[in-house]
Amino acid sequence: MPSSLDEIKTRIRDLGLRSTGPRVAVLRYMETLEAPISHAEIADALKDLGFDRATIYRNLMDLTDAGLLSRVNLGENVWHFELRQTVTQEPGAEHPHFVCIDCGAVTCLDDVHVDIKTGSSLVAQISEVLIKGRCRKCVA
Ligand SMILES: [Zn+2]
Ligand SMILES: [Zn+2]
Repeated sequence: MPSSLDEIKTRIRDLGLRSTGPRVAVLRYMETLEAPISHAEIADALKDLGFDRATIYRNLMDLTDAGLLSRVNLGENVWHFELRQTVTQEPGAEHPHFVCIDCGAVTCLDDVHVDIKTGSSLVAQISEVLIKGRCRKCVA
């Protein structure tokens, strides 16, 4: 169920941020999504509200720094953003993402649990798991 305007404003203020129009608009829009989205896509979706791309970008970064959003790196520095489900884990480590190497579609793998043991190698911490392959539409 989508949050009310007041709930979103409270969530922003609880983090010590000012509840501004762009921040509320970004969070409200992202609640409706089921997969990470790029800055360009969000800017496009919200441009009718009168926010320019730079404003959206700055606010995406603020909300990411505050821990409300995760930034997913899909390679070649193509960043996508999504709402964080929990704030207890490392950003991006909540669930793996699947990206199709043909069409570029990104999917949240909420039901996939990846258990990577880091004790015996040089790896100290996993911040993000990205799985690449082909989606059903592209192999059909
Ligand atoms: Zn595909
Ligand atoms: Zn996700």
